[in-house]
Amino acid sequence: MNEITGQTRVLGIIGYPLIYTLSPNMHNAALKEVALDYRYLPFVVAPEHLASAIAGIRALGIAGVNVTMPHKETVIEFLDEISPEARMIGAVNTIHNVDGHLKGYNTDATGFIRSLREELVDPEGRHAIILGVGGAARAVAVALINEGVASITLLGRTVEKVEAFKVHLLGSFGQFSIKTLSFDDDLADIFEVGDLVVNATPIGMKDSTDLLPVPLEHVDSRHFIYDLIYTPSETTLITAAKDKGAKAVNGLGMLLYQAATAFEIWTGTPAPIAIMRDALLIGLEGGDRSKHAQKKDKRFSS
Ligand code: NAP
Repeated sequence: MNEITGQTRVLGIIGYPLIYTLSPNMHNAALKEVALDYRYLPFVVAPEHLASAIAGIRALGIAGVNVTMPHKETVIEFLDEISPEARMIGAVNTIHNVDGHLKGYNTDATGFIRSLREELVDPEGRHAIILGVGGAARAVAVALINEGVASITLLGRTVEKVEAFKVHLLGSFGQFSIKTLSFDDDLADIFEVGDLVVNATPIGMKDSTDLLPVPLEHVDSRHFIYDLIYTPSETTLITAAKDKGAKAVNGLGMLLYQAATAFEIWTGTPAPIAIMRDALLIGLEGGDRSKHAQKKDKRFSS
């Protein structure tokens, strides 16, 4: 990589506590590949410092940042402009600084669609079932409606949140076919009509790796399953769906393409996808290796 000079521009990510992020790996590898004089750095920003951090982006001329938990929603009030999609989602994950004018985008939505189309299926005309109604589910739902799905069914465990999200979507899109259900309802009819299932819950990660977010007795080869989870790379949902003849992919592509879209917004240069994918995979392997090492260390010390 080039020396840091007086001309070097700064990109980064703001979040809290920001213990684990693959974004610096991906972006610095991409910047190096296309020989752009930028660096991408992590900035740990506590919620009470968000306003001054955003003022700092303007004051320091930081070219752009990604925004992660817990700031994706609260950052909106500090920005000058929000893309229509980010406004509908109610969350920003990318800020671009153009001469002090800060514009917020949501590249999770774009990243999801790019990955979905490339790896699984064209969403147009599909009947989508979205599991969960958190931040990622909101990006997925707005993106799918924008891409012309025929209907959406929202499945969540907290009835008030599910209904509030439905009202929000109807407010943004007017008349649109949206059903709501809870995980305990009979899902036979939903899986009869629905053909694109997106898991936007954390069920399948960490201490729930052996769990399914929904029973799969109604899933068959007509179904397309997109699991937003990417660690583990093959969740129990993906394995079980494939066993039933469905096509299923994980969320790695979404992670990659949300970063690629942010890179293109900031630099105006096509993202070197293959390099970013390699950096992502190396970062993930490194994470796994350090986790394995920690486990090993614990075993040795006990
Ligand atoms: P979030 O805002 O915390 O939302 C999680 C949703 O899952 C909420 O609706 C929550 O319900 C529901 N949920 C959590 N535990 C549940 C359980 N045991 N049973 C039923 N529902 C449960 O999280 P998020 O940011 O949307 O992320 C969701 C998932 O997507 C995570 O696994 C995350 O890693 C993944 N993700 C992937 C990408 C990517 O690039 N691939 C990007 C973003 C997120 P309540 O509202 O009732 O709590």
